[in-house]
Formats: sequence, C-alpha cells, structure tokens
Amino acid sequence: MARYTGAVCKLCRREGMKLFLKGERCYKDKCGFEKKPYAPGQHGQARKKLSDYGTQMREKQKVKRLYGVLEKQFRRYFDKATRMQGITGENLLQLLERRLDNIVYRAGFAGSRKEARQMVGHGHFLVDGKPVNIPSFLIKAGHIVSVCEKSRENSRIKECVDTAEGRGVSEWISLDKGAYKASVHRLPARDDIGYEIQEHLIVELYSK
Ligand code: SF4
Repeated sequence: MARYTGAVCKLCRREGMKLFLKGERCYKDKCGFEKKPYAPGQHGQARKKLSDYGTQMREKQKVKRLYGVLEKQFRRYFDKATRMQGITGENLLQLLERRLDNIVYRAGFAGSRKEARQMVGHGHFLVDGKPVNIPSFLIKAGHIVSVCEKSRENSRIKECVDTAEGRGVSEWISLDKGAYKASVHRLPARDDIGYEIQEHLIVELYSK
C-alpha cells in the first residue's frame, strides 16, 4: 500500500493551511504551520502569483494530502463522484469523508487520519459488528463503527477516546465513549466538512 513518508508539516506549509496530519501536536504551539506560516524552501516567503492551472493543482494537492490519498485513488474517487447524482465537487468530498479511516479519526478513536489508517489496517475496528481492516472501506448512513473487544485495552485508543471531545467530534457522527462505538446517523453535508476547500477548482482541473 503506497503512502507518503516525507515531512508532513511541510505539506501544511505548502498548502497554506493546517491539515492536521500529526495528531495532538497540531493543536499545540509546536505546530510547524503556526511557527512558520509560509511555504517551505528558500523562496517560501516570496510573493508568487499562481496561474489558474497552478491554483487548481494546489487545491487538488491540498485535498489529497488532507485525506492521505494518492493520485490514482483520488482520481478514482473523482470518477465515481462524476457518476453520482448531485454536485461533483461535493460528491467527491463526501466520498472522502465516508472512508473508514476518516470516520475513525472524526469519531475521535485516533489523533490523525494517518494514525486512523494504521489502526484500521491492524484490525482494531468493526463495522456493524464485522471486522474491517480496509481504510478505504466506504461507510453508509446507519453504520456503527466500534473498537473490537480486545482492542479496548489499547492505551493509545483509550487516550484518543478520552481526549476526543477536546478535538471535537463531527455532528453527523455520535460517539458513545463508554461503549467505544460511533454511529454514523447521516452522511456529511458540505457544511459539515468544515475545511476551506474550493472543490470546484478540482472539478475544473480534471475536466480539462
Ligand atoms: Fe500541520 Fe499538524 Fe504539522 Fe501543524 S503540527 S503543520 S497542523 S501536521
């Protein structure tokens, strides 16, 4: 399974916003973007005017990095979004939000999407009582994601659940901390996603 292994704070600095890739550190003063809120590299602080293509490309890279998805898979989500009813850009974001690793992160079982992806891969979660270890598994409204019995003693999962409310649990998911369960009572609407994303730029880029 291909994944990005480089310095992650540089990604936030490149995209000009916090992508929350490092768990607790992202909420503290140590955050790389808080310390250096400009692009990495020698010319990072230089004012640069991007072309239309450059702006669209940056928006696509931002969303890919936010959800930890590489190009090929991201393109597959886009193709799927175009075949769905509704607005393609919103469909794309909704598909990304429906990934199991994202739900695990949004519910508060993990500190970042990267950590969530690893936890899912290690088989710590059940969907409607059945084990699922595929981070890209698409969750539907009504699904219940829970921590499997033996993983409830996992100190990292416990720590994440205890601090979940401080990070904020998404409104479309309800977390039952005591039962280590998260219910997805509806699919996220555009306003639930909450990041500054101009998804229409991605649609324009891929529609060329
Ligand atoms: Fe991004 Fe988190 Fe690093 Fe801050 S600490 S720059 S939000 S990955």
